[in-house]
Amino acid sequence: MSGNKCQRCGKTVYAPELMSVPGSNSVWHKGCFKCADATCGITLSIANYMLYGDNVYCKKHVPKPKGRSVSNVPHAKETPTGASLRPRPPS
Ligand SMILES: [Zn+2]
Ligand SMILES: [Zn+2]
Repeated sequence: MSGNKCQRCGKTVYAPELMSVPGSNSVWHKGCFKCADATCGITLSIANYMLYGDNVYCKKHVPKPKGRSVSNVPHAKETPTGASLRPRPPS
């Protein structure tokens, strides 16, 4: 492992400005510890953050897990084209 990369900006986080939370391996700059909602971006603190996945949100924007249908698999179905679904005609 080579250093800690900020979950928010992707740059290396050095100890003086490192922000980490229990339950996540991710780290943030103190200044990057913000709500991950694009329209919000409110600065969070260890007292009011909500951890969801590898991101932190404010209470207002933390996604609500609904049932179990939504998994955090990044690329669930990525078939290049539908061409392979066509059966080959017998010759
Ligand atoms: Zn950062
Ligand atoms: Zn927010």
